[in-house]
Amino acid sequence: MSDCIFCKIIDGELPSAKVYEDENVYAFMDIGQVTEGHVLLIPKKHCENIYEMDEETASNLFRVAPQIANAIKKAYDPKGMNLVNNNGSFADQSVFHFHLHFLPRFDETDGFNVSWEQHNDDYTPEKLQEIAEKISAAL
Ligand code: 5GP
Ligand code: ZN
Repeated sequence: MSDCIFCKIIDGELPSAKVYEDENVYAFMDIGQVTEGHVLLIPKKHCENIYEMDEETASNLFRVAPQIANAIKKAYDPKGMNLVNNNGSFADQSVFHFHLHFLPRFDETDGFNVSWEQHNDDYTPEKLQEIAEKISAAL
């Protein structure tokens, strides 16, 4: 896609610090380095988000994900690693070419934080079943 910065990175029109490349995917250092070692893995085929991704593109991308994660683990020996994928502006997506973030975790102050609330007490097994059926019916 002509005005997509990640397509431009894949094509070499914009510079990037490449980590890995094959015929289907490209991995490079995130310019923002939320934590040191923060890598982005993207499909070469432009798709805006997870909703647009075809099965082949998804399998080509996720096939490589463990290899990227293990390389970061080997290089940095982090205490943990978060894989993050944002879809839609409301979910903090800012570049509209699908990308998977790899964020090695070092300590409580390493730059990454996520907080979410659990609502166990608000959902009975029956309610969970009802929600599951609603989603299944949409598959
Ligand atoms: P999002 O917010 O869409 O999930 O993540 C987009 C990511 O792309 C951000 O973490 C941001 O730092 C990174 N990014 C944006 N522009 C560039 C760029 O030109 N080069 C690189 N390497 N990363 C970029
Ligand atoms: Zn693109």
